[in-house]
Amino acid sequence: MEYTQEQLADFKLEATRRRQRAFVVVGLATILLLGLAVIFKQIGKGGGLWAILWVLWVAFVFGYTYRTWRCPACGSFLGRRTTVKFCPQCGVALQ
Ligand SMILES: [Zn+2]
Repeated sequence: MEYTQEQLADFKLEATRRRQRAFVVVGLATILLLGLAVIFKQIGKGGGLWAILWVLWVAFVFGYTYRTWRCPACGSFLGRRTTVKFCPQCGVALQ
């Protein structure tokens, strides 16, 4: 499929926005997880609760990434790497 120069520029911009948003969201989730870990340790809780939180964090990060790290042009999942330059599915430039 052919795209206009404007659309191609928009795809790059949107890919950059999605990458930055993912870093912020995953970063905040990680800070939250670590913060809760410190709190649990101080109040003597942990163990099972900590394991549940860890599983929730992993599920959230994978779910969020899978849902949002997609090609702005075709919607395909872009894989695990954040430095992808072209969509593996449609070949649109993302950087
Ligand atoms: Zn694509």
